[in-house]
Amino acid sequence: MTAELSGWTHVYSGKVRDLYVPSATMTDDDTWTGDPLATSPEVLVVASDRVSAFDHVLEPGIPGKGELLTTLSLWWFDQLQVPNHLIADHGLDGASRIPAAVAGRSMLVRTLDMYPVECVVRGYLTGSGWKEYQASQTVCGIPLPAGLQNGDRLPEPIYTPAWKAPLGEHDENISYERTVELVGADVAAELRALSLQIFTDASAIAEAHGLILADTKFEFGADRETGVTRLGDEVLTSDSSRYWDAAAYAVGSTPEARMASFDKQIVRDWLAANWDQQGTPPELPAEIVEQTAARYRELLGRLTAL
Ligand code: ATP
Ligand code: MG
Repeated sequence: MTAELSGWTHVYSGKVRDLYVPSATMTDDDTWTGDPLATSPEVLVVASDRVSAFDHVLEPGIPGKGELLTTLSLWWFDQLQVPNHLIADHGLDGASRIPAAVAGRSMLVRTLDMYPVECVVRGYLTGSGWKEYQASQTVCGIPLPAGLQNGDRLPEPIYTPAWKAPLGEHDENISYERTVELVGADVAAELRALSLQIFTDASAIAEAHGLILADTKFEFGADRETGVTRLGDEVLTSDSSRYWDAAAYAVGSTPEARMASFDKQIVRDWLAANWDQQGTPPELPAEIVEQTAARYRELLGRLTAL
């Protein structure tokens, strides 16, 4: 259920987040057929407890997830030295413009003209990358050395962009050359450089907290006033990233033991074992919901502990 927020107009719901703009900035031109974010310079991004896997929203949600993801994103934005989309109002004090009903799981951000590229960086071989590697010794077309195992560290992080499909369609892996066609040579190069730099910086921070950042996805957009590229969306959360326990990785003798994850891999694994990806996905059992919530909480605790 999307909350009714006085003074704000709901304009869009993704799989996980609901977007609102100040009702006062809505004009007659903001019809539902146009870009709902066309005229508002700011947008309220409210994270729900919804969980998605294989591009399906599952039932039930993960209690507290929206708040955990928001706290994690805010923490990471603060750590990173790149321009981001936050407007300095996190809804955590009384003077905030963020409605109390969604405080803690909302970010007030500048509306960016989002680039239609999901900027994926992989430091380790797993998931769809591992599948492709077994078939062709490549990941998203990038050739890799022979003999790698599931969960192995790559010689260096690789940038494997995807095309951000419209709602309801699947994102599609694309070549770097295709990103040049989509956003131009300069922006494509900037997105790749920023993504690899943020991944390297974030990996070092994660490592200092006993965590491996295996892979992640960033979304960037252009500042509407200055054209500057800003980091948008959520960042380095357990929805957009794979995190593993560094200590378990060091001693694990099986892929499962090495990749003790702090992300929604629990949900993906359960779903893969209990659903043939036809029709409506089954309901998540209570213990999977609780295990996932516990892992998300532990990730936040580890990262933000002094
Ligand atoms: P989809 O957009 O396909 O629904 P999704 O399921 O990932 O993808 P959510 O993450 O739930 O969607 O919703 C967040 C939406 O807000 C995304 O479409 C994202 O690109 C967009 N977004 C994030 N930050 C900004 C911003 N600063 N300005 C404009 N749009 C933004
Ligand atoms: Mg998203």
